Amino acid sequence: MLKVQKLDVLNPATEEIVATVPAATAQDVDAAVTRAARAQEQWAATAPADRARLLRRFAAQVDDHLEELARLEVREAGHLVGNARWEAGNVRDLLDFSAGGVERLSGRQIPVPGGLNVTLLEPLGVVGVIAPWNFPMPIAAWGTAPALAAGNAVILKPAETTPLTALRLAELALAAGLPEGLFQVLPGEGAVAGDALVEHPGVAKIVFTGSTRVGKQIMAKCADRVKRLTLELGGKSPNIVFADADVEAAALATPMSYLDNSGQDCCARTRVLVQRSVYDRFLEIVAPAIESVVVGDPADEKTQMGPLISRAQLDRVRSYVTPGDGIHGTAPEGPGFWFPPTLLTDVDPDAPVAAEEVFGPVAVVIPFEDEADAVRLANATEYGLSGSVWTRDVGRALRVSQAVKAGNLSVNSHSSVRYWTPFGGYKQSGLGRELGPDALHAFTETKNVFISTEGPAQ
Ligand code: NAD
Repeated sequence: MLKVQKLDVLNPATEEIVATVPAATAQDVDAAVTRAARAQEQWAATAPADRARLLRRFAAQVDDHLEELARLEVREAGHLVGNARWEAGNVRDLLDFSAGGVERLSGRQIPVPGGLNVTLLEPLGVVGVIAPWNFPMPIAAWGTAPALAAGNAVILKPAETTPLTALRLAELALAAGLPEGLFQVLPGEGAVAGDALVEHPGVAKIVFTGSTRVGKQIMAKCADRVKRLTLELGGKSPNIVFADADVEAAALATPMSYLDNSGQDCCARTRVLVQRSVYDRFLEIVAPAIESVVVGDPADEKTQMGPLISRAQLDRVRSYVTPGDGIHGTAPEGPGFWFPPTLLTDVDPDAPVAAEEVFGPVAVVIPFEDEADAVRLANATEYGLSGSVWTRDVGRALRVSQAVKAGNLSVNSHSSVRYWTPFGGYKQSGLGRELGPDALHAFTETKNVFISTEGPAQ
């Protein structure tokens, strides 16, 4: 059942309507799957070098339109213009990286008696990518680029609030010469177009990034058909600062470790765990750094933090914390979905704001006693996406990195996602891995073929 006919895309910094796009129905999804299946057959039969060349041309198209894509993301998602340029560049780089995998996607030859045994890596068919609004371009590309490179067709359903860059990417794919129907973008509601992709028997795999709540529903539906599934879900990541660290560097790096993208980042380090002996010193350094974060017009190069994506997200953040609580910065008044950078002290680790994913510019800082206490607090969450460890003791850095149950850890830094290293979550943060050297493998089935070398019976 279609709930809305069209989606109004708002500029989150001004609340003005930027564009209106039609919302796809279940029938639209069905027709798209038919087109995709046809295109996929042709694509899988295309020579690897030609597929790789077309993906590189797609990357070149993205590069040629990088500024346009970035400006569109500023308007539809309120991203800082510098970040948005990086995001469009990430799409280009991932397309190039995946193109490099097309001719290297090889199976194995395994020794067996009486014949030859080889494995074939075959494309799955049609892949459905369901993307969120927090990083519309990169997350769309993380599923799409390796899936195409491995010989699949892709139907991308962007988030309701951010369909515009995805639609533009589909146009650029066609301009690059990718076959009609191979990469289609269908904006629409999650419960309608998203659900239709999940339920469709012609869709072999779903790549979903978004909330853990919806991820669980999709997993249950995929189970019915044993449909392949990759999940990238929420996080509540720790930033662990030991007394033996460069405390000043750790404190100064803390604000942007959770304020980037206004905190709407599944890797945001929103639980700051600080050893008690340096807790007061840490707060003395971090407080002015948070208070001075420049919040405002995302198109201004000097801005450090923009608005939240929507009124609904602003209401959600406000349900956890009142603007002006704790250590806090400032935010513009008037139209737009603004919330000030906030760091809460004296919070019970079990309080909702300390335990649940707020997805806004809000973190808590909690003292710990020793290494065992730090690891216990870091792991006291249903999530396990990322985390940071600050220490000068290399043994401790390794011990804690091994002990924290999360998919992406960084030591003395908050680096998170690189397209050539694997990314994904432990526990309820996800299932499977994206990116990295094995990215294409997530979009193939392994077929084992044994060829007898015995001659015909005499
Ligand atoms: P969501 O999970 O509802 O939406 C993500 C995507 O899934 C969107 O494209 C949406 O249309 C689609 N979707 C929703 N319901 C669906 C369904 N039943 N079947 C198929 N597709 C469906 O996330 P949201 O409502 O946009 O955000 C809510 C919260 O989710 C946020 O506050 C945040 O905590 C979390 N979130 C996490 C990430 C992440 O990167 N891990 C990204 C976005 C949101």
